[in-house]
Amino acid sequence: MNEHRRLDAPHEVDVAIVGAGIVGATLALLLGQGGLRVLLIEGREGIVDWQPALAPEPRVSALTPVSRQLLSGLGVWKDIAQSRLMPYTGMQVWDAEGNGEIGFSAEQSGVSELGHIVENRVTQAALEQAISRCPSITRRYGVRVSGLGLPRTGSALVVSAYQLEGAEAASLTLSDGSSVAAGLVVAADGARSRLRELAGIETREHDTGQVALVTTVRTAHSHQGVARQRFLPTGPLAFLPLAVNSALAHPEGETSGAQRHCSIVWSTTPQEAERLLALPETDFCHELEAAFEGKLGTVEYSAERFSFPLHQRHAQEYVLPGLALVGDAAHAIHPLAGQGVNLGLMDVAVLAEELLDGHRRGVALGDERWLKRYRRRRRSDNAVMLKMMDGFRLLFGSRKPGVRLVRNLGLGWVDGSVELKRLLMRQAMGERGELPESCRPR
Ligand SMILES: Cc1cc2nc3c(=O)[nH]c(=O)nc-3n(C[C@H](O)[C@H](O)[C@H](O)COP(=O)(O)OP(=O)(O)OC[C@H]3O[C@@H](n4cnc5c(N)ncnc54)[C@H](O)[C@@H]3O)c2cc1C
Repeated sequence: MNEHRRLDAPHEVDVAIVGAGIVGATLALLLGQGGLRVLLIEGREGIVDWQPALAPEPRVSALTPVSRQLLSGLGVWKDIAQSRLMPYTGMQVWDAEGNGEIGFSAEQSGVSELGHIVENRVTQAALEQAISRCPSITRRYGVRVSGLGLPRTGSALVVSAYQLEGAEAASLTLSDGSSVAAGLVVAADGARSRLRELAGIETREHDTGQVALVTTVRTAHSHQGVARQRFLPTGPLAFLPLAVNSALAHPEGETSGAQRHCSIVWSTTPQEAERLLALPETDFCHELEAAFEGKLGTVEYSAERFSFPLHQRHAQEYVLPGLALVGDAAHAIHPLAGQGVNLGLMDVAVLAEELLDGHRRGVALGDERWLKRYRRRRRSDNAVMLKMMDGFRLLFGSRKPGVRLVRNLGLGWVDGSVELKRLLMRQAMGERGELPESCRPR
């Protein structure tokens, strides 16, 4: 391994991770449990926690069985399972304009569930608990990164807020005026990554022309553990099954109606989202019910509504000397297939595997040539997913009669093919390519 730079200077920490979202916190655990000294830096104040009395959070994620495996290995899943989660055993997708429909079931795929819908807050709180048990991770929350310095390698000079002259370490300046030196800095600071900007990494980006409206609703009928999505010409509307505690499920003392809460992700035009956000609750519930063809009966109640602009972005580079990008900082994807967090978790599983392997062999953590192994294993998989989401969005957004006919016939054809469906389901469940060791079933 002589061709790779050796870790010879003592750094303040081995790895500084910026962003303690689901992706950054998972990486901290992978590296911390692997024996590295990790500093986790987060802009928001305080540690996320979760209490059973809390109403469901509007931000949820459909976590694949592969992501579950990763979180189980870190000792995080057991806390998630003891908090609140909803396994889903079926998926139903249909076209608003035509009769094309496709259904997936866990039984057909030979598994007990296709995945779990988990509130982001539940996952984050479980990650924080595991971080508290890991002495090699230090947290600094309530500070933001304002400057980045990256080491030079060969003739490559990295443009950044300031440059450490001749230093081997990467460095960060924080909003409280302090600075940190690290063998490697990881940008896990989300879709509008400040670190990516400071490093001068360009993104290939396009506005999907859609905004996601999210909220939690209660319906007349049970969701029965099925995730449903209707493709409207303006964008997909998803009803994701939620679990809530009995006190929350029956606020008016009802006796029936278990499994009647869903998380809504309604992707639509910005104008339409603005209109829907401004509607009184009862009117909104009526419109939502109509847009969903009343599949779960009356929409009885809606919690507060929030909206998120939907941009697809892909960083041109995932690594530079002393820097790696992960999660939404590297790629932001349309939520229609619920893949964002799962792709980010796969990034950090691969990055940690490569870093720990390199470290054991004496390779410096910030060595760009070694970091490129991570880039090779992740960038093309993410690029394929981003392209697929674009394809779906354009296919289902088209009102051209020919395209409508083809997509309805296509949905019906795929629905009739057991083998093809099984293959698609395996992909959606995260089983693509060679999985890192931490994600393989034990
Ligand atoms: C409506 C919607 C629905 C979605 N549904 C799903 C789904 O079902 N399944 C799925 O897998 N994905 C889903 N996603 C995508 C998913 O939410 C994202 O992919 C995921 O949250 C990205 O995680 P992250 O940790 O990379 O980034 P983030 O969650 O954005 O975390 C970044 C962290 O960095 C911190 N930070 C930012 N800047 C700084 C700074 N300068 N200094 C210090 N800290 C900083 C932030 O405070 C934050 O805590 C959905 C997205 C949307 C918008």
